[in-house]
Amino acid sequence: MYTINFEGEEMVIRFPKDLPENEALSKFLGHINSQSILKKNRSSDASQRLRRQDRISNFPAGAALLRDPGLNKGTAFTEEERDALGLQGLLPPRVYTIDEQVRRVIWNLNKKPTDLERYIFLTSLQDRNKTLFYRVLIDNIEDLMPIVYTPTVGQACQEYGQIFRRSRGIFITARDKGNIAGLLRNWPYKDIRVIVVTDGERILGLGDLGADGMGIPVGKLALYTACGGISPAMSLPVTIDVGTENQTLLDDPLYIGLRHRRQRGEPFDELIEEFIVAVQQVFPGAMIQFEDFGNVNAFRLLEKYRNEVCCFNDDIQGTAAVTLAGLYSSLRITGGSLKDHKFLLLGAGEAGIGTGNLIAAAMVDEGLSEEEARQRCWYVDSKGLVVKSRTDLSGHKRLFAQDHPRIATFYEAVKALKPTAIIGVSGQAKMFGREVLQAMAECNERPIVFSLSNPTTKTECTAEEAYTWTEGRAIFASGSPFDPVMFKGRKLVPAQGNNVYIFPGVGLGVIASRARLVTDEMFLVAARVLAQEVSETDLKIGRIFPPLPRIREVSMAVAVAVAEVVYKRGLATKPRPDDLAASIQSLIYEPEYQSYV
Ligand code: NAD
Repeated sequence: MYTINFEGEEMVIRFPKDLPENEALSKFLGHINSQSILKKNRSSDASQRLRRQDRISNFPAGAALLRDPGLNKGTAFTEEERDALGLQGLLPPRVYTIDEQVRRVIWNLNKKPTDLERYIFLTSLQDRNKTLFYRVLIDNIEDLMPIVYTPTVGQACQEYGQIFRRSRGIFITARDKGNIAGLLRNWPYKDIRVIVVTDGERILGLGDLGADGMGIPVGKLALYTACGGISPAMSLPVTIDVGTENQTLLDDPLYIGLRHRRQRGEPFDELIEEFIVAVQQVFPGAMIQFEDFGNVNAFRLLEKYRNEVCCFNDDIQGTAAVTLAGLYSSLRITGGSLKDHKFLLLGAGEAGIGTGNLIAAAMVDEGLSEEEARQRCWYVDSKGLVVKSRTDLSGHKRLFAQDHPRIATFYEAVKALKPTAIIGVSGQAKMFGREVLQAMAECNERPIVFSLSNPTTKTECTAEEAYTWTEGRAIFASGSPFDPVMFKGRKLVPAQGNNVYIFPGVGLGVIASRARLVTDEMFLVAARVLAQEVSETDLKIGRIFPPLPRIREVSMAVAVAVAEVVYKRGLATKPRPDDLAASIQSLIYEPEYQSYV
């Protein structure tokens, strides 16, 4: 622990004892930098000098500068910079503005024949020039979200070995046991605040993609930056490659992972434990997002670490929050409160159980007992209705087992239970067929139909099917995006229940307050704030989530509310600023070129 007097302020900085001296120095500089960002408007000459010195000593020049994606500006380097940094002759003579560069990127994107080609093109841009990549992504978020994330990212993961060009993130395998901290120290950025980690076992609804699942942490972190304003230098994608059960990949000569079956049990747990401890040593306080683990491990890991370190599982908690937000918005159309509804979920995995838990918590907040709340959440899994007489239920499903005779199919369950809302999180395509949707329309004036399975090929029903078979009355949301549907002369705009409305804002709030833990209350609050961000105009056309171009504003609102919870519950490790919103705003990364001369 060091106490340092800097700019007249006493700062206490803690480093693990075993941190090498150069790491400690680099961390200290990173800390000074982040302090300076917070105090951007009143930064003194001293901090500027320090930052400048730090930058100059590491600053590449000439061709090396053009190869550094964090610093490269490509054709936007000014004449002055070209003179000073040895770039003359290495670039075409004309100097472009970032807006002109954006136009060129869009022109190129439009020329690509497929979305996968667009994904590859954007990935290469991210490798060349991060500022331009994020400018393009933020300015065109609605068009590009389906490319950098679901559904295209699903296909990209399926073909990751084939389209692989340049490595991004940290890969950890059993061979690294005992040296995971060393691997993390190889990462070039030192002030990491958010890590997305997967073991690739359940990528979207596509199953086990092993190390090829790296596309998911990479994609999610791009969204942390684009949608939550978290600096890309503060994020780290990690894949823990413990093998795969996917025979096609094991047989594929271009597969990027290790060719063996999945390690499970103790060796797996020990590797994860070492990873978690290493993160605390190398990037203390960084938030860890568990992503696309198979459900056997996902629940276990969350339970094991949620009260120990700053972490959450997006498939369980993020999905729950976005779904609950969709339900809150739907209530503004149907009237009533959550407790007046009966929810029937198809799929009792990570997304399903996470959602049931959060809906139940919200109903308890409305005054129901936990038991009463759970009695309003019903499930059908691959074996039928989840009822008490079943002996095959795992612990988390048992909590929702109802006193009811067995029912084999989802359609029969809809007929018998007459739910007001059906939520599809089964990863099984076409499960909300015509007869299910018609049955929902028979018993509800405005049936709530959320078909959340990803990617599009796995959706329980399309937007068009949902509207057609409910005579345009469904309040519909999907996991992957659908185009607007014309129904009897009315334009209906389906909402995408994308976790991106939640995790970047939650992450920003957690990072800004330096929270020790991430709690369910934060997701509950995030869901409420998100629903409040939906306008009456949105609701009129059926859109129960805000338009994506507003995502940065929405994430800010979520972040402030989450940080409030952090401070209220005493989970912050830094003092509350007087103006919380302004302090969070000052952290926001804007993709703009800095002058280097
Ligand atoms: P999971 O593997 O943990 O759970 C899947 C569940 O579906 C299991 O309970 C399984 O028993 C059940 N199931 C399988 N076949 C079934 C069938 N024929 N009938 C009924 N139930 C069946 O997976 P998960 O993490 O819960 O994700 C499920 C789906 O939800 C995926 O497609 C995923 O992409 C999607 N998802 C969407 C969002 C979102 O849109 N915001 C977020 C998270 C997950």
